[in-house]
Amino acid sequence: MNKAQLEAMLKTHCGKSPEFCTDKELYTGLLSLVQTLARKGESGKGKKKLYYISAEFLIGKLLSNNLINLRIYEDVKSILESYGKSLSALEELEPEPSLGNGGLGRLAACFLDSIATLGLNGDGIGLNYHFGLFKQLFENNLQKEEPDPWITDTSWLTKTNVVYTIPYKGFTLTSRMYDIQVTGYGNCTNKLHLFDVETLNEDLVTEGISFDKTDIKENLTLFLYPDDSDRAGQLLRIYQQYFMVSSGARLILNEALSKGSTLYDLPDYAVIQINDTHPTMVIPELIRLLTTEHGMEMDDAIQVVSKTCAYTNHTILAEALETWPMEFFQEAVPQLIPIIEVLDDKVRRKFDDLSTYIIDKQERVHMAHIDIHYGFSVNGVAALHTDILKKNELNPFYRLYPEKFNNKTNGITFRRWLLHSNPQLTAFLSQLIGEGFKKNASQLEMLGDKAFIADEKLLHRLIAIKADKKAELAAYLKETQGLDINPQSIFDIQIKRLHEYKRQQLNALYLVHKYLAIKKGKRPSTPVTALFGAKAAPAYTIAKDIIHMILCLQQIINSDLEVSPYLKVAMVSNYNVTLAEKLIPACDISEQISLASKEASGTGNMKLMLNGAVTLGTDDGANVEIHRLVGDENIYIFGDSSETVIRRYQDGSYCSKNYCDSNPDLREAVDFITGPAMLAAGSRERLERLQNELLSKDWFMTFPDFRSYVKTKEQALNDYENRSSWARKMLINISKAGYFSSDRAISQYNRDIWKLEKDASRL
Ligand SMILES: *Cc1c(COP(=O)(O)O)cnc(C)c1O
Repeated sequence: MNKAQLEAMLKTHCGKSPEFCTDKELYTGLLSLVQTLARKGESGKGKKKLYYISAEFLIGKLLSNNLINLRIYEDVKSILESYGKSLSALEELEPEPSLGNGGLGRLAACFLDSIATLGLNGDGIGLNYHFGLFKQLFENNLQKEEPDPWITDTSWLTKTNVVYTIPYKGFTLTSRMYDIQVTGYGNCTNKLHLFDVETLNEDLVTEGISFDKTDIKENLTLFLYPDDSDRAGQLLRIYQQYFMVSSGARLILNEALSKGSTLYDLPDYAVIQINDTHPTMVIPELIRLLTTEHGMEMDDAIQVVSKTCAYTNHTILAEALETWPMEFFQEAVPQLIPIIEVLDDKVRRKFDDLSTYIIDKQERVHMAHIDIHYGFSVNGVAALHTDILKKNELNPFYRLYPEKFNNKTNGITFRRWLLHSNPQLTAFLSQLIGEGFKKNASQLEMLGDKAFIADEKLLHRLIAIKADKKAELAAYLKETQGLDINPQSIFDIQIKRLHEYKRQQLNALYLVHKYLAIKKGKRPSTPVTALFGAKAAPAYTIAKDIIHMILCLQQIINSDLEVSPYLKVAMVSNYNVTLAEKLIPACDISEQISLASKEASGTGNMKLMLNGAVTLGTDDGANVEIHRLVGDENIYIFGDSSETVIRRYQDGSYCSKNYCDSNPDLREAVDFITGPAMLAAGSRERLERLQNELLSKDWFMTFPDFRSYVKTKEQALNDYENRSSWARKMLINISKAGYFSSDRAISQYNRDIWKLEKDASRL
């Protein structure tokens, strides 16, 4: 389609010429235009289809992403400009759906993009949470939660006629399917199916994000991960999960039947990727539907389902591997109990290792165990993570089924995390190596050419682009959040969910140390800005205490006239995909400082290196693979190894207080948490609780890594002073980022697990 045709279409969809449209009318016109164009890429004809089922899809805003994938972004932008309209102003009108929590949900979104881009037949299945996770505000240096509504006349959701009746104990709910088109880069369109309860009542939400957790009929799809610190909240999670999988299972069976499946041959028509354990009930639910509604024998149904389902493990944190009391199933979905008992019984007959049973002695159901016994594939999400699963956490299962275990290192879509978020860098890279990397990310390797690495002019251009993105970010944060930061400073960025294992507290302790050092006259050559973005789960007290500490530090340091010219702290509120797209291109130092062995992969680390940030991190998750690719010279690695950490947990030898007493700098930083400055800025209760947690437990071992963290970070800050050599590190990081394209990850999933045919009719 040429530009004139596009312009004519835009006018048709807007109903009038752009100069007479308000931004809102233009936005709506574009939305409808994109949906029309995207529809041409739909097929659904391929015999076998992948269903990627996930409690989260953190998709971000879709307008620009879709324009890029339909390859009309530049034309639309220039048509709008010719009428004096700005595409970026229209982007601001789009609400971001907060249908995810963090990396796992963002991964699902990147994967849908790559599945469509590779021309594979694959849809997403999830839930249509009206208020998402929550919107984060800061008040009195504390996190406050509010609903985050996103379903408006400017959202991409379309209502379908697909409706199911979902049975629970004593009542039924009506489930309706809503769709969001998923465009690929090229001409393929798949779908994200989001199921919603017909009887939802948004007015149930009263104060903040509180609501009546027992009113399932009216509350089911209000929020993602509603507070589960009490029994009603835990039961609600079961009701939600069952709603998702029962709706999904019906859709999958109906689609297979309509393509001529006998259901005995279901694995030829469907493959289901179970993203973490939240959708695990799809296994017993499919078996139930096949036996009760489609007349299949139990053993046959189990065989069929086991050949259809594959499981991705995302964590080795014990507290995150779901187990539910049998009594909850009894209360919510008793129809699954006989199935789960049969599944458990078969395991008991075959194996004598108690640790692999589905129902344990306390009558709790281990969801991951269902996935592993009754799925045909188990994958981890980075090389180190898969190794640890095999050697430690899932070792008893690995010994039973070595052939099921495989690694699929995570990836990110370059369309969003380079083309969209950093058009300036994209244009520069295109000048250097052509456009091929947009379809084939491995071509970024060409940037490693000796001639490029030695080219001072090129390196300075790279620095200039980074400086522009830093200035853009500073202006944006000033305007939207009132944050005042110096665009000439080093941007040191830690953006990710707030969790003790990710160790924002380690970064915060460093900042105290740095603050005190500057007070004593040790000023850095280039000022430093420490940026944070992180939501804490509403019931996760210590995580909220860490946010409190960071916000108090922000207040103290930024208002200190001696220190703030050299060091500032800025915590952005409501970190989400939209903010990530602005923060990531502006980053100099990427903080990836989880306790070694605890971060399954990370994907933020990949987005940041792709945009020319240099990683400061532990040898954990995909950092290990980044390290291997870029080499020691182009990454800053610190801290104890995963082997040391695992051993320390095993022998129970860790005592945090000993480390603190033997390191005066650390002692001083820890004491500062409850010193007069902090108590004047914040809450004594929170600060004392946090300090006590560190001194008496420090479960994620921040203290042992403190010394090497400080030393390595100082090294990075010093190295930054040599601008050419730093820019060379940036370029090498970009050149090695190709491996982390989700196109690579999805090709591997398809080659090893899904085995879908490329849909030739759509390419
Ligand atoms: C990529 C991304 C994440 C994941 O970040 P990690 O550092 O890998 O934990 C979380 N939230 C958002 C909004 C993201 O874009």
